[in-house]
Order: sequence, then C-alpha cells, then structure tokens
Amino acid sequence: MARPGAVVVGGGIAGVMTALELARRGESVTLIDRWEPGHSRASSTDYNRVIRAIHGRDEFYTLWAREARLRWMELQAEIGQRLYYECGALILATQGHCHWEDATAETFDKLGVPYYRFSAAETAARFPQFDTTSIAYSLYEPEAGMIMAHRGVRAGLELFQRAGGRVERGHVTTDADERLVLNGKPLDADLIVVATGPWMADMYPRTVKPITAVVGVNVLYTSTPDGDASFDQENMPCWIDHGEKSFGLPSTEGSGVKAAVVIPDKIDLDNDERLIRRETLARTRSYIRKRFPGLVGQKVVDSKFNQIILTPDTHFIVDWHPKHDNVLLAGGCSGHLYKHGPVFGDFVAGVGRREYGTADRFKIAGRRKLSPAESPSGR
Ligand SMILES: Cc1cc2nc3c(=O)[nH]c(=O)nc-3n(C[C@H](O)[C@H](O)[C@H](O)COP(=O)(O)OP(=O)(O)OC[C@H]3O[C@@H](n4cnc5c(N)ncnc54)[C@H](O)[C@@H]3O)c2cc1C
Repeated sequence: MARPGAVVVGGGIAGVMTALELARRGESVTLIDRWEPGHSRASSTDYNRVIRAIHGRDEFYTLWAREARLRWMELQAEIGQRLYYECGALILATQGHCHWEDATAETFDKLGVPYYRFSAAETAARFPQFDTTSIAYSLYEPEAGMIMAHRGVRAGLELFQRAGGRVERGHVTTDADERLVLNGKPLDADLIVVATGPWMADMYPRTVKPITAVVGVNVLYTSTPDGDASFDQENMPCWIDHGEKSFGLPSTEGSGVKAAVVIPDKIDLDNDERLIRRETLARTRSYIRKRFPGLVGQKVVDSKFNQIILTPDTHFIVDWHPKHDNVLLAGGCSGHLYKHGPVFGDFVAGVGRREYGTADRFKIAGRRKLSPAESPSGR
C-alpha cells in the first residue's frame, strides 16, 4: 500500500479544521480519532464556546479572532446551519483587577476593533441582567458572540468529507521513542499532524508533558425564569468576569445560562465519570446570587465536565517533533483555541506543507509563565 499523504490524529476542532484545510489544499488526508468526532469527552464538544477578540495586549490573537469570526460566518453559509450567534461579549472590569481590561481597550483602539466602554451604571442600564455593584467599568465588544461548538466540529467534519477526506476510528499511541503506533504498527505518512488536545501530554511524556498541565473544568447550565426571554442570546451577551474567576454565555437554543465558575480540578481523561462536582454547584449558586439576581432560585438543568490543556504562556503549540520530522504537534488549547479553529487549521496546514515556518510563540522550546497583564488570556 502506498504511504498516505497526510494523517491527522484527533478529531476535535484543531484536528478537524486542520484536516479540512489540508484537503482543500489538495492533500489526500485521513483523520483518525479514538472515538466518534464530537464525542463528549473532547474539549471541543460543549454546546457553545465564546468567540471574542478580547485578548489583553496580545495583537496576534486579537487579529486571529477577528479573522476567525469571518471564517465561521463563511463556514456557516457553506454548511447551511447556524454556527455563530453574534450576541456580543462583555468584560467586567472589577475594582483592583483592571490590568487586562485596560490593555484590551488599548489594543482595540490600536487595531480598530469596535467596542464600547460603559461605566457600572451604564452597564446595568444596557444589560439589566447583571448586578454591577463591584464593577469599575465594562468593555462591550458587539462583533463577538458564540460558536455552537459540537455542531462546529461536526460541520467541519462534514465539509472535510465532502472535500474527499477519510475518517477512521483508531487509538494512536507512542512508543518509548515517542514514535507513533497504530494497531501495533508504526504509523507512517508524509505528514502526520497530532491534534489530540489534552491527551497530547500523555502521548508525549518527554516533549509536551513538561510544558503543559491538564485541568478539569466543571460548568453548569441554569434554567431561565418562566416566560422571560431576557437571559437568551438575543438579549444578553457572553461575559468574562475575571475578578470572580468566571465567564459565561446566555441561554441559546434552550440551553440555559452557562455561568461558569472556574475551579481548576484534577481529571482522569479516560476514566472519570463526567458528573457535577458539589463544590461547583455551591460556587455557581453563590456567583449567580451575586451577579444575576434574576436567576436566584433557578435550577441546574445541564452540565459539562471537560478539560483544558494549559501551556505556561497560554500560547498554542504548533511545532515539529524534535526527533520525528514528519510529525507536527498542533494544540495547547489553554482555554481559548476553539474560536480560532478555522484560522488555526489554516495556519497548521500551511506549516505542515512547509509553505512557511511556525510562529515563535508556538514553538515548544523557550516557554515561560507570563504575568496576567502580559498574558493573552489574563491567566
Ligand atoms: C470549560 C471550557 C470552556 C472553554 N471556553 C472556551 C471559549 O469560550 N472559547 C474558546 O475559544 N475556547 C474555549 N475553551 C477551549 C476550547 O474548547 C479548546 O481549546 C479546544 O476545544 C481544544 O480543541 P482540540 O481539538 O485541541 O482538543 P479536543 O477537542 O479535546 O480534541 C482532541 C481529539 O483527539 C482525540 N484523541 C485523543 N487522543 C487520541 C489518540 N491517542 N488517538 C486518536 N485520537 C485521539 C480525542 O478523542 C479528541 O476527539 C474552553 C474549554 C473548556 C474546557
């Protein structure tokens, strides 16, 4: 059998978008995943993910997010399904936690990204769902919103298959030399892109594990009041509330409000039951009491327990394996990769075909922790 042109391992948003872009560049591509792409354990498959250009002082991701918004609109038109809701995004700058928000406003001014700056009183008048008592000010980015995440993965997969791509089920492992193995045999191709998300750390104990941490995150969906549409995406934006270590998305297509209090948790990717944690329930209720008085007494109607893989500087990984020069590692989500998916896939495809080199920030070597003010994610 001829050696295949390109193999992409991993069918989350990073792998699917890379596979699609490689196929569109004329490559013969096989995408392999352990489970059916879109499965519940993957990081990419909650109902929805926020898309916003808000990235502190980081111009690179701000521009990528602006481009990704257009790409998602194109994909949505192409697939004929709703993938993007432009409900806007609000960052709440809490007293004493404004560095990242101040830096975001400067970046937006410089790059011409549309936004509004509201005082606490103006925020409450514009978005009465929020109690703004502890807020210094807010930034509202109107050309932001949410991507329907599970549907986005499935749409990308469908477009990939329409472009001639093949999808196979299989568990790719690595040997002691971090060489790829499938069904007991070396996995070989001109190009192999490994986009296995949080699983990449255990697959690459020498190359990826030392620069990453895998963190479980449990998020809950809360019901909206009977007969009241004010918490739906038509009337409420996504939000980021760094001072409260929270973010969230309004109710969409009946999902309930996703008010996520981030409590970093341990997770066993393959063996944990994906159930609600008691602590998250208590902390989410207390957050809702503080920020959303109109949701007090509402019930948890759904939940998601999945994970992020964090790099020290929260930059993604797009780099060649140091010993295997046909293996390109692509991921390092750091809690913000989903929205960039179409641009990320396009970039990885170009690096994989050696049309250009990777960006310095995506290299495996030389990672260091950034201060919250420097960080693209404010972490
Ligand atoms: C709670 C939460 C909220 C988030 N919010 C946002 C947000 O608002 N906006 C945003 O942009 N991002 C957000 N993110 C981050 C975003 O979801 C991730 O960065 C992104 O989904 C990562 O995609 P991925 O393709 O790298 O990984 P995954 O989606 O996990 O995909 C990896 C795939 O690889 C497969 N795989 C793994 N190992 C193997 C193997 N050995 N062989 C074969 N296949 C394998 C898996 O089965 C899986 O399908 C959030 C993440 C979390 C957890």
